[in-house]
Amino acid sequence: MECIINEEKHRKLTKENLVSRIKAEDWLYILDDINSERLYLILGKEKALLFDTGYGFCDYRPLIHEVTDLPLTVVCSHGHDDHVLGNYLFDKVYIAEEDYELCLAGDNEESKDRLIRSRYKKTPDIEEIIDRKAYMAMTIKNCDYKFVKAGDRFDLGGITLQVYPLPGHTKGSIGLYSPEKKAVFVGDALTSNHVVMYGKSGNAPAAPYLYYAALSAIQKLDIECIWPAHGDVPAGKELIAETKRLFENWAKEGDPEKDREKKGSVFGKTCRYTDPETNMTLAYNPRRLEEIHEFMLEHEGRME
Ligand SMILES: [Zn+2]
Repeated sequence: MECIINEEKHRKLTKENLVSRIKAEDWLYILDDINSERLYLILGKEKALLFDTGYGFCDYRPLIHEVTDLPLTVVCSHGHDDHVLGNYLFDKVYIAEEDYELCLAGDNEESKDRLIRSRYKKTPDIEEIIDRKAYMAMTIKNCDYKFVKAGDRFDLGGITLQVYPLPGHTKGSIGLYSPEKKAVFVGDALTSNHVVMYGKSGNAPAAPYLYYAALSAIQKLDIECIWPAHGDVPAGKELIAETKRLFENWAKEGDPEKDREKKGSVFGKTCRYTDPETNMTLAYNPRRLEEIHEFMLEHEGRME
């Protein structure tokens, strides 16, 4: 699988390129948001769809209009602020109902200030570039929110995108699968080398066995390419099996005492398990490990 965006190679950020457009396929553009997150613009024959709206530090709509004038549907993979704060740029946004509250929870000065400061730390260039005052003033509350659920489909003309719930990273995380393109867009539910879930930042935890079962469900699909929101993109289908293995090993070997992070991470107090077999890491809240153990105890050692 050829890597289109490599996490290690970052561009120098300026006011003009906070969001940068990359053509991945004839039907697919990636909007790379401050070297951190990937939004996906999917072009069908009759409609276009934007998956996630990003940090919303700038108005990147011209980057969309330059390549398509088709009617645009906007869908969020989940409710975390780095995926939804660009919603103010659009009138109508689809999201899973389970993440609606989480989505609006980031829309206040305190959270936005925290988000900006955490980004300054990672990307000091942006401190000079971002219009902090305008960012504080914008709101995502006025969008018309529509809820999506398992089995819903967006027909773009020649490309359909089917909603697959991927609870785990947050309760309302979803993926979009296109059978025509054998591609799945996964938000933060799958990332090439680490999985972050069940941290404090999620408002309501999803049971870990639901995540495992959701991975098994998409594993049955005909997939050639996985498009995550962070890290190297794209990933191959083996990422699903690897993440399941990470999960199985974590359920056996995870130890909150050993895995506890010395300092609190941005995700709140979490533990971090590194799997020697897959070399992937899983950030988790100890309660989630207890849940999977309880579930397995009731189901003769099975995880789903
Ligand atoms: Zn997230």
